[in-house]
Amino acid sequence: MSRRALACTLLCTVLGWAATARAAGWETRVTDGIMGTRITVEVWADDAVLADAANEAVLAVMRHIDATMSTYKPDSEVSQVNAHAAAGPMPISTELFDLLVTAKEYSSLTDGAFDITYASVGYLYDFRRHVRPDEAHIRAALPAVNYEHVLLDPARHTVRFTQKGVRIDLGGIAKGYAVDRGIEVLQKAGITHGYVSAGGDSRVLGDRFGKPWVVGIRDPQKGEGEVIARVPLVDAAISTSGDYERYFDEDGVRYHHIIDPHTGHSASKVRSATVIAATATRTDGLSKTAFVLGPEKAMEIYNRLDDVDAIIVRLDGSVVYSKRIQPAAPAPAAAPK
Ligand code: ADP
Ligand code: MG
Repeated sequence: MSRRALACTLLCTVLGWAATARAAGWETRVTDGIMGTRITVEVWADDAVLADAANEAVLAVMRHIDATMSTYKPDSEVSQVNAHAAAGPMPISTELFDLLVTAKEYSSLTDGAFDITYASVGYLYDFRRHVRPDEAHIRAALPAVNYEHVLLDPARHTVRFTQKGVRIDLGGIAKGYAVDRGIEVLQKAGITHGYVSAGGDSRVLGDRFGKPWVVGIRDPQKGEGEVIARVPLVDAAISTSGDYERYFDEDGVRYHHIIDPHTGHSASKVRSATVIAATATRTDGLSKTAFVLGPEKAMEIYNRLDDVDAIIVRLDGSVVYSKRIQPAAPAPAAAPK
């Protein structure tokens, strides 16, 4: 649905329900199954009917992005690109074109650690069914992994792959993008306090009336609900990538969903990486980097970006913070009197 059509739908719904307005308050909606993950939307609205309508409009945007960008749906635009872009330039929607441009920017920014063509090898894995490719298959597929194989023509709005075997998957950035679009929908509906999350990608709008929103970072060594830190946020986005999200263990090796574009293997240099910045597209685009490059190199990149904070859990469980959020050094012991 176009943004205008969506705004109209929202407005009509609101007007239609105005007669039955309810009291102001927080409204939370949790929905499973869109983009293969859990979507949470929480808003404050003077009128609960407006809140309901805003929540519904956010979900509509998410469903649209899922339908366009999922590689699990053979008729999605991205699946069509994967099927045809090696044969020649293929016209695509402005929305997809712009996101492909953004994805390539994150590849440059992360020294190629973020690379949507990881899927040229990534499609050989099925973490739910414990399927992984052998070395020969990885070696054969690997030359197709390189974001520079994706050619974008801004004049014609086309995408072309330079060779056969190239596949793209936006699983590493589409959820962050969807969260940003969700926040935009809330803003257009006049909402000034809200929260939207899709899996590990979240963004908050405003605060919680004088208090920040607080988002927990899961402790990767422990179960869900156990956190290593609680991060206060106002008008900001946060993404956490972890090796515990989609994985299986075999002979002591963890095979999980973040793939090193250089090797075609799961990227296992950290346990988790959390990135904080203004938009969820940005935090999503950066949170995989530490897995591929390791904590030191990734922190170097994060610290170069003035608008980015990061918290990385190393393989040994120790935690490393970007320069602006170093925890205060413990106070020196008081001298004996
Ligand atoms: P979530 O899907 O919960 O948001 P992440 O943000 O950590 O989790 O993204 C993981 C997803 O990113 C994988 O499932 C896959 O679709 C995609 N991905 C895996 N490796 C890479 C990579 N090197 N570059 C870009 N995307 C990747
Ligand atoms: Mg993500």
